[in-house]
Amino acid sequence: MSSQITNWAGNVVFRAERVERPSSLDELRALVARSGKVRVLGSGHSFTRIADTPGVLVSLDGLPVGIEIDGDGAGVRVTGSVRYTELGPRPHWGKLFTIPAGTLRTRYERLPDFRKPARDLDPAGKFANEFVDEYVLSE
Ligand SMILES: Cc1cc2nc3c(=O)[nH]c(=O)nc-3n(C[C@H](O)[C@H](O)[C@H](O)COP(=O)(O)OP(=O)(O)OC[C@H]3O[C@@H](n4cnc5c(N)ncnc54)[C@H](O)[C@@H]3O)c2cc1C
Repeated sequence: MSSQITNWAGNVVFRAERVERPSSLDELRALVARSGKVRVLGSGHSFTRIADTPGVLVSLDGLPVGIEIDGDGAGVRVTGSVRYTELGPRPHWGKLFTIPAGTLRTRYERLPDFRKPARDLDPAGKFANEFVDEYVLSE
């Protein structure tokens, strides 16, 4: 490769000879058929060499996007080209995340319903803190 491609953390430099970005399933099939070693590269967030290959790294983000939600909302099927962020994920509140507060608040459609009793029951904000103020109580 001419310029180094690394994982998110920078601790893995991928050895791949090239990165391919097919734009259709047929292109992907042909690429896999003519290539020796192949690995898919997602967001490169893994810390191990699991996504590495001496052959071809394939990014699926050029493929058509498909999202199917079950009628009862209990399940969702997505194509390999969908990244988690495109599904509007909600993070675990106690884990490290980088979603800006304004973006995150839009992902909780019932947040306004929560704010009213939260303010009524705790008008002085005794049980709030800077994090809760920024991510939950701010509008
Ligand atoms: C800041 C940070 C926080 C994290 N927090 C958590 C956490 O809270 N919980 C947790 O479980 N993990 C966590 N992880 C780990 C991360 O979720 C995993 O390493 C995950 O595998 C990364 O996915 P990726 O799409 O970046 O995959 P990559 O690192 O690109 O690839 C990982 C593997 O998945 C395969 N792959 C990727 N995309 C596809 C696809 N579309 N089709 C087929 N195969 C594919 C690759 O070939 C490879 O084998 C965190 C990582 C970071 C950097």
